Amino acid sequence: MNPNPYLEQAMEMVKAQAGVKQMTPAEIVEMTKEVAEGLNNYVSGTEEVESEIQEPFIEPKRAIRLNHIICVECGAKFKILSKKHLASHGLTSDEYREKWGYKKGTSLVCKSVTQKRREKIVSTKIWMKTSKNSKSEKNDSDSKPDKKK
Ligand SMILES: [Zn+2]
Repeated sequence: MNPNPYLEQAMEMVKAQAGVKQMTPAEIVEMTKEVAEGLNNYVSGTEEVESEIQEPFIEPKRAIRLNHIICVECGAKFKILSKKHLASHGLTSDEYREKWGYKKGTSLVCKSVTQKRREKIVSTKIWMKTSKNSKSEKNDSDSKPDKKK
């Protein structure tokens, strides 16, 4: 019946105001209307903001530390931010990255884990290079049987 749920609240406020200073009935009606509309706009406005902008627990850029990664959603610390944990916030890794402005393909792990992974990749590459070299050396010595090593 009442389109504005804050009309009653506004009436209370105007009533208090009318007790302080003299108001004509027209002024009271006008003020009630204005206050009710103002309240309605104010409340629906803040609700919208709340649902659209979520305050991060931590600045996403600072969430990835040397020995832990902090979940921007809840502030929990991890070595590796698992898909399982993100699922508890209703997010996939991709959605999480997108939501908090991480680049696509960002590893959701602490820096020390990233470093270890990098080291492993580097050492694997070196090993591959070395084994390739020794193989070619072997081939060389095979093609030149006179020169023995
Ligand atoms: Zn979390």
